Amino acid sequence: MCGIAGFLYERSFKDSLESLIMMMYSLQHRGQEAFGISFLFKEGSFYVMRSRQQLFSVFLKPWGAEVLKKEVLGAVGHLRYSTTGQYNAPAQPVLLESSEMSFVLAFNGTIANFNEIESSFAKSLGKKVRVSPALKNNDSVVLAKLLYILAKEKGNDIVEALKELPYHAIGGYSIVLLTNEPRIVVARDPYGFRPLFYSDSAGLHVASENPPLELIGINSWKEAEPGEIVSYNMLSIEKTRTSFKAEPSPCLFEYVYFSRPDSFFNGVSIYKARLRMGELLARHAPAEGDIIVPVPESGRIIALGYSRALGIPLEEGIIVNKYIGRGFIAPPIQRPLVTKIKYNIVGEAVKGKSIVIVDDSIVRGTTMRELVPKLKSKGAKKVHVRIASPPYTCPCYMGIDVPTKGEVLAKGFDEQKIGKMINADSLVYNTLENLISSTGLPKVCHACFSCRYPFIDRKAIKYVEGLKVLNRRGRH
Ligand code: AMP
Repeated sequence: MCGIAGFLYERSFKDSLESLIMMMYSLQHRGQEAFGISFLFKEGSFYVMRSRQQLFSVFLKPWGAEVLKKEVLGAVGHLRYSTTGQYNAPAQPVLLESSEMSFVLAFNGTIANFNEIESSFAKSLGKKVRVSPALKNNDSVVLAKLLYILAKEKGNDIVEALKELPYHAIGGYSIVLLTNEPRIVVARDPYGFRPLFYSDSAGLHVASENPPLELIGINSWKEAEPGEIVSYNMLSIEKTRTSFKAEPSPCLFEYVYFSRPDSFFNGVSIYKARLRMGELLARHAPAEGDIIVPVPESGRIIALGYSRALGIPLEEGIIVNKYIGRGFIAPPIQRPLVTKIKYNIVGEAVKGKSIVIVDDSIVRGTTMRELVPKLKSKGAKKVHVRIASPPYTCPCYMGIDVPTKGEVLAKGFDEQKIGKMINADSLVYNTLENLISSTGLPKVCHACFSCRYPFIDRKAIKYVEGLKVLNRRGRH
């Protein structure tokens, strides 16, 4: 799970930087651990900067008169949310330079078999190819190398390489790649696990979700289709697709949690899907309470749907400190402290009341273990917990950072037992059927709840089932 953005559209350096950072800011929810930006200058060279600081730091950087004078043809940006490798290791955009072609690449997703790809392809890369960062244990770096090798086999054609990619890579990806030709290419894996939006109304602009495009004034956008490859070279736009056959299975968790509420995904409004999640949850698990309290931010719209369906008023009883960032992806040692700092309870809203708190999911249980006692200590009479999704049980190999099976709270326990573990007066999860039907889509990927991976290739299924945890070498 990461955010990506980019464009091929001639502008001054200052305007390029501003447009890219604006798009990236509205994708910050998709990755906060690190970021990277890259520019293709008109003279044909690439500039790449990767940082662990906040996005705004780029405006404070002394860029120097030389850079500020440059004309820019295109740019690619990346917001990191690690699914492989070390926390905070800034890796993307990856820059690959060779005599045949040079490009920068950013992607959102995970390539689960990157170690195997690395060992079978690395030898054929040739000494004259430079890849930065020179990381080994990283799927984005391996992806860049693989695309280079596949392109070379096809007469240096990067679009042909992207058509071949799903025959080699197991996982999910939405990619933006900018070559020095210049050409920008966007591609979504044939299952369509992750979102990807673009617009060809002025050059070509691309982003993980539609709001970043709207923010820079582009209101006519399109969603890349599963398996689609869109390429633009400043003259014409070409659309093609991989011949790899797969049934589109977009990620259900994008609807539950990841995407912005003002986004679309596969033509479905995230806002409407979340309202519907709340309505269906209310039908499945109505609770008697004086007030409904959302767990901000992720539970907010779901709680609104739940409250409207039951006619119980919504109250903002939990206040979140947005500056602390995401507890979920903080290193384990910091997680409980981050969660403690993150939430405070409005005693005036909850005191003496029987309350129903609504959230999108329980994964490790860190959030609920913190919130339920805090609500009671501020005078809540009863705390009922209602969750929009079923218990989270299995690792994701398509781009979401999920803990190991051993870390998740559900681990085969029933609702009553989990309810006791979090000190709730009652706990009910939504059903998988309800959750799927809130999207209105015929098929989605729900492997994190069902452990059923949607790959059509038996080898791919066997491969991910054999992986107990994502490659976490170097993480702690
Ligand atoms: P936990 O506290 O471990 O039970 O995590 C559940 C909370 O973390 C939910 O309320 C979500 O808002 C959020 N969350 C769930 N899954 C993820 C994820 N893969 N990455 C980041 N945040 C998540």
